[in-house]
Amino acid sequence: MDMYDAIIIGAGPAGLTAGLYTGRYRLKTLLLEKMTIGGQIIMSTTIENFPGFPGGISTTELIAKMEKQVREVGVEIENAEVNAIEFHYEGLSGNFRVKTPDKEFSAKSLIISSGAHWKRLGVPGEDKLVGKGVSFCATCDAPFFKNKEVVVVGGGDKAIEEAIFLTSYAAKVMIIHRRDQLRATEILQEKARSNPKISLILDSVVEGVIGENKVEAVKVKNVVTGLSSPISCQGLFIFIGIAPSTEFLKNKLATDDSGFIITDNKMKASHDGVFACGDCRQKDLYQVITACGEGAQAAYSLHNYLLHKK
Ligand code: NAP
Repeated sequence: MDMYDAIIIGAGPAGLTAGLYTGRYRLKTLLLEKMTIGGQIIMSTTIENFPGFPGGISTTELIAKMEKQVREVGVEIENAEVNAIEFHYEGLSGNFRVKTPDKEFSAKSLIISSGAHWKRLGVPGEDKLVGKGVSFCATCDAPFFKNKEVVVVGGGDKAIEEAIFLTSYAAKVMIIHRRDQLRATEILQEKARSNPKISLILDSVVEGVIGENKVEAVKVKNVVTGLSSPISCQGLFIFIGIAPSTEFLKNKLATDDSGFIITDNKMKASHDGVFACGDCRQKDLYQVITACGEGAQAAYSLHNYLLHKK
C-alpha cells in the first residue's frame, strides 16, 4: 500500500489550497473527493468577493484554475468517498488509514477539509418533494422555474444571493425569513430590496410543503400573529445554513455540538497529525477566502509537524 505524507479529505477551496501548499513542500499528497471538485461553492454561479476579480468570477472557472494549479505540483486526486479513518495505526505503513468503499490508503498526516452540506427544514412534504420543486441549488435548478413563482427560505448571504439569481428565470421570488431582519451582508440586501421581482415575507416560517407529485404551495406561519396560510408557488428553495460533513470521523476528533471540528489557530485538531480547515471547522466566517487561508495554514502546520515528528 502506498504511503502518503499527507492525505487531504475534501477538494473544496480549503482542500485545494492545502494541496497546493503540501505539493509545493514536495510532500507526497493524495486529495480525496467524494463528489465534484470544488465542493459547495460550485452550487453558486459566480463569486463576487474573492479578491482580484472585479465584477466577480465564475465559480467553475475559479475552481478549474485551482485544480490545475494543484495538479501542476504533483498532487494526486481521486474521486472516492471516505467512510472511515483509523487513528493510531501502528503497522509499518503509517499512522492513519483512510478507508473508502474500494480502497485503503496510508498516511503520516491528515487534513480534513470535507466541508458542509445544506440543512433541511424538517417539515412535512419537504423530503418527498426534493427534485419535484424542492431544491437546495438555484444554479442547478433555476431554469426549470422560468416564469414560475418560487419561495426562498432563509435570510443569510446564500438565500439572498440565490434569490437574486432566481429572478433571471422566475416571475416572482418570495423570500421567507423567520425574523424581522435579514442576516445577509448589506450590499446583498440592497440588491434584493431594489429587485422588483423579489418580495420579503418576514417573521414567518414554512411549516409544510403542499403537493403530491410536485410543489403546489407552502404552508407559512406568521410567528408574531401565530396565523398560518398557504402561499401558492411551484418551487421551494431552502438555504438555511450548513451542517458539517464530518460523519466519517465517528467522534474521533473534538467537535462542537453541531459536529464542526474544533482546531487551534494553526488548524491543529484534537489528534496529533490531524489538521482541519474550511467549512467543516468551527469558526466565525464561512467564506472561500477564509477557507483558502485556512488550507494554507493547515498545510504549513502539517509540514512543521512532519519535520519534527520522530
Ligand atoms: P447562514 O449565514 O447561517 O444563514 C442561515 C439563514 O437561515 C439565517 O437567516 C437563519 O435565520 C435561517 N435559518 C436557519 N435555520 C432555520 C430554520 N430551521 N428555519 C428557518 N430559517 C432558518 O447560512 P448561509 O446563508 O447558507 O451561509 C453559510 C455561510 O456561508 C455564512 O457564513 C455566509 O456568510 C457564507 N456565504 C457567503 C457568501 C458570500 O459572501 N458571497 C455567499 C454564500 C454564503 P437567522 O438569521 O434567524 O439565524
